[in-house]
Amino acid sequence: MTKNIAILGATGSIGVQTLDVARMHGIRVSALTAHRNIRLLEQQAREFHPSLVAVADPTAARQLRIALADTDITVAEGEEGILQAAETPEADTVVNAIVGVAGLLPTLQAIRAGKNLALANKETLVAGGELVNAEIERCGVRLYPVDSEHSAVFQCLQGCPPGALKKVILTASGGSFFGKKREELQHVTVEQALTHPNWSMGAKITVDSATLMNKGLEVIEASRLFHVSDDEIDVLVHRESIIHSMIQLKDHSVIAQLGVPDMRIPIQYALTYPERMASPVRELDLSEIATLTFDRPDTETFTCLAVCRKALRSGGLYPAVANAANEAAVQLFLEGKIPFLKIGDLVSHAVETFRPASPSLTLEAILQADKETRASVLTKA
Ligand code: NAD
Ligand code: MG
Repeated sequence: MTKNIAILGATGSIGVQTLDVARMHGIRVSALTAHRNIRLLEQQAREFHPSLVAVADPTAARQLRIALADTDITVAEGEEGILQAAETPEADTVVNAIVGVAGLLPTLQAIRAGKNLALANKETLVAGGELVNAEIERCGVRLYPVDSEHSAVFQCLQGCPPGALKKVILTASGGSFFGKKREELQHVTVEQALTHPNWSMGAKITVDSATLMNKGLEVIEASRLFHVSDDEIDVLVHRESIIHSMIQLKDHSVIAQLGVPDMRIPIQYALTYPERMASPVRELDLSEIATLTFDRPDTETFTCLAVCRKALRSGGLYPAVANAANEAAVQLFLEGKIPFLKIGDLVSHAVETFRPASPSLTLEAILQADKETRASVLTKA
């Protein structure tokens, strides 16, 4: 079990819930990072006394350095500062709760420093999955999934012999616009997209849930984590978010993991594996819920899921391109510069028109494809 963690993205939805788990189980916190929310980061630093805090935005970092001048906490800044936090000597595990591909380099840094990873940052595995897997193998570290679906699959797989897995069945809440058709989605607002039925999460992933891009990213994430191909991953809409995902074995037995929708269960399991410990999360009362429903995803309205599957089948840099186009498109949508349906159009267009300069999947090639795709989408506002 983990004893000492560094949390990258400590001020976000996952970061704050990770600190809840750390508080409850007395897990030491030796580094905390944020993009620029220094008010919350300062409070967290005063409570948990890490040796290092890092702020990506240099101006905000300087302000925090002044605010924490009465402590012995070091305040690092910029991308370098985040990388320094990823290799904090005291930490045995790095929790990566950064949003977006900005989490890729810190993930690699943590692995190379010999840290185990509790990974919420799915964009890392989408853009750099094969590279990340190779580094994990080379450095002999472990990756524990935090994403609820992947934690569910990981939990279901405990005790399954190698080769027994036939299929991964990812459940999807359906997001804010389940049941709506394209005509009804033409004029939806940012506020409507940010109203998720079951989970309270950061803005980007909430929009990703509304477009089903989140499930597309998770299909790719599952393929990297569990070494399954596109046709071995099913997606099932399950509005209640009680079954967090399932596996089907060779003998057609299906194993599911259930619980109330609360990320502190998967976060805690990633930190306490293989132990099971008391949790602040409510007990599940199935008689209260009474009915669990299942639907097929509407891939004609929500085009992102099929585009991600295509990117996964194409391999190489295609998943990184789909992810980058989506990050830029979601940014434009949140800024009110494009309508909701344009997100899917931009992701499809980026994947359809991408031609890799070279087939090699190096870090440089991934970052270059990310940068070019992002720039090209941002000009489409
Ligand atoms: P969030 O927006 O609430 O928080 C993101 C965190 O990352 C913040 O601390 C922010 O300061 C930091 N950050 C943002 N940009 C950064 C940058 N360029 N450099 C350094 N730090 C940066 O996001 P979240 O909802 O907590 O999601 C975090 C990750 O976890 C995402 O990849 C998301 O897909 C995944 N995830 C989240 C949930 C959830 O319930 N929130 C569930 C499953 C997976
Ligand atoms: Mg998820």
